[in-house]
Amino acid sequence: MDETHNKSGEALPHNISLQRDEQGWFEAEGDKLAYQGNPYYLNLALQHDGIRRQLIPTKQEMMFLDTESSDPLSEGIHSPVPRMIHRYGNRVAVLVTDRCSIHCRHCFRRSFTGKGHADLSQSECDSIIGYIENHKEIQEVLLTGGDPLTLGDSSLLEILKRFRTVRDDLIIRLATRIPAVYPRRINPDLLREIGRLSPLWMVIQFNHPEELTPESRRALRIIREAGIPMVNQTVLLKAVNDDSDILARLFQGLLREGVKPYYLFQGDLARGTSHFRVPLERGWQIMDELRVKISGLAMPSYAVDLPGGGGKIPLNRSLLLRTTKTAYVFKNTEVDGREYEYPRETE
Ligand code: SF4
Repeated sequence: MDETHNKSGEALPHNISLQRDEQGWFEAEGDKLAYQGNPYYLNLALQHDGIRRQLIPTKQEMMFLDTESSDPLSEGIHSPVPRMIHRYGNRVAVLVTDRCSIHCRHCFRRSFTGKGHADLSQSECDSIIGYIENHKEIQEVLLTGGDPLTLGDSSLLEILKRFRTVRDDLIIRLATRIPAVYPRRINPDLLREIGRLSPLWMVIQFNHPEELTPESRRALRIIREAGIPMVNQTVLLKAVNDDSDILARLFQGLLREGVKPYYLFQGDLARGTSHFRVPLERGWQIMDELRVKISGLAMPSYAVDLPGGGGKIPLNRSLLLRTTKTAYVFKNTEVDGREYEYPRETE
């Protein structure tokens, strides 16, 4: 596709006419998650505003709040081995690459994503595997990044097979946004190979029902036919999917494709993402509305990663200790029983 390069070096096809807010981002200098798209997702973005907002940056990303952080989940302090995060006793996450097919504008790991890090090396992989072998309490390994499916077939399979050899019962989770944003990457030969590495789950991310195109449904069918179970994590995003009708369509559509809606995530406090965050009250209201629109099977769990290393908690009103003028105070009984605050933001 014919492309023009703007002032910041990011490329967009020259025939896209940018809105003023979008133009503002391309003209701004500063610490930015680069624009990255592909023709498939860009084409969808030009047809649906809820998808455009996930792909094309706006100048609101240059607004940083004091409550935001470049490491909103405090992953840095839970990384005993490079490229591995061990925050919960029974599982670890491994950052296999920093590349993605598109850069989602809401990405919480934006300080790592697309920053030119090398892919996971042999020696880094060795160290992580050694760590898992020495920590028998680890039962699950999440391969993430970036998006592991941006690796070539042989590199991806080599990494997966190495983790498979650690222990037969180690559960591998493969996190990828590829089925939603670049479905033609999903090919039956690769998926058949991955399907042999059970127990292995695919954790995918669809945020909008218009991402369920004939191509992405085909990709989901290929994964399903390879015998790989799938769960979906959706991020609750303002002006994208903060509407129970939109989410009901998405979750029912996923269920139809054999994908269990797993989490609806409250936005993390990543720098420059405040324009995507939905107030918690609105999130709870959406969940209440969803309960009467879709079945229990189609319902995800509404959850948040508490800032300051508080870990993930289900956003049940029963876990809310109190509400102050500026924050919601929760207790995380799973991590350390301490109180953590999530800021009270308004529309
Ligand atoms: S695919 Fe995942 S890691 Fe990559 S930009 Fe999107 S949310 Fe971030």
